[in-house]
Amino acid sequence: MLIVMDHRATKEQVDQIIAAVERMGLTAEPIPGSLRTAIGVLGNQGYVDDSTIRTLPGVRETIHVSKPYKMASRDFHPTASVIDIAGVKFGDGERPVIIAGPCSIETEEQMLAAAEQVKQGGGRMLRGGAFKPRTGPHSFQGLGIQGLKLLQQAGQAQNLPVVTEVMRIEQLDDVCKYADMLQIGARNMQNFDLLKEVGKTRHPVLLKRGMSATIEEFLAAAEYILAEGNPNIVLCERGIRTFEKTTRNTLDLSVVPLVRELSHLPIIVDPSHATGKRMLVPIMSKAALVAGAHGIMMEVHPNPALALCDGAQSLSGADFAELMGELNRLLEFLGYQG
Ligand code: PEP
Ligand code: MN
Repeated sequence: MLIVMDHRATKEQVDQIIAAVERMGLTAEPIPGSLRTAIGVLGNQGYVDDSTIRTLPGVRETIHVSKPYKMASRDFHPTASVIDIAGVKFGDGERPVIIAGPCSIETEEQMLAAAEQVKQGGGRMLRGGAFKPRTGPHSFQGLGIQGLKLLQQAGQAQNLPVVTEVMRIEQLDDVCKYADMLQIGARNMQNFDLLKEVGKTRHPVLLKRGMSATIEEFLAAAEYILAEGNPNIVLCERGIRTFEKTTRNTLDLSVVPLVRELSHLPIIVDPSHATGKRMLVPIMSKAALVAGAHGIMMEVHPNPALALCDGAQSLSGADFAELMGELNRLLEFLGYQG
């Protein structure tokens, strides 16, 4: 980190900053300039917490050299990571993975039918929520453990690994038992205690971007999981909150190439939650693949009109089959072999 002093800063103020840096166990190296002094901070292992130093008298600004996400960054891990979920691989050089399934697990028939449609269409993982983070308490909250069992059963019936959301630490053991991959939803991206516990497992994690999270905050959330020893993370862009109301969220596709440059972790896109509109899912899926996404997660329901959650953004089995045909042609054009 570099601490830039104000041009009116006194020698006492510079000395005070040097002392403050040394109290943090770090080395301060003053760099006098013709107009102002800068102080180089050395000896740090990663990101330096500048919250106090920044406010001390005489400081104009602090400039960070290290990022708050060391282990998630390419600096630390230059080669791209490939994350394997029961044989399904996400990452550079791998064919992008399509994850599909309903928003919520509702019944055995619904899950078995959805799993069959996902498999038939060429999806490689099955999704479905058992613990649902609904905006209002009167909406369907999910089937809980019973739902986890139905998801596992449907996945096994079609030989598809399954992913489902964990909302609380107390649910972690059950979700690890029944699912191949844990999902951290947008609303929990900064639930740091949950991230730490997920990090202590070695279970693969799908980490969704918080609805108002910057890219730095998104990668810092991944850092929490990595720092506890779990390297099996796939990131997911699912749209961010903006002033626009026509879509449910605003799909930030620029995050895909940016994250691919900043981090070694794979990143996929969820065009269902990003747009909230069924008609936008096909074209945004294609755009995501062109942008370099390592996969797509989309909502597919055997009967979207009857879905207990997110029907308006869910594709029917027939819609999904049609879209998969188009995505396969696009992937061929992008150089992936069938
Ligand atoms: C979901 O994938 O079911 C979900 C609730 O998504 P998000 O956390 O992105 O809103
Ligand atoms: Mn949903």
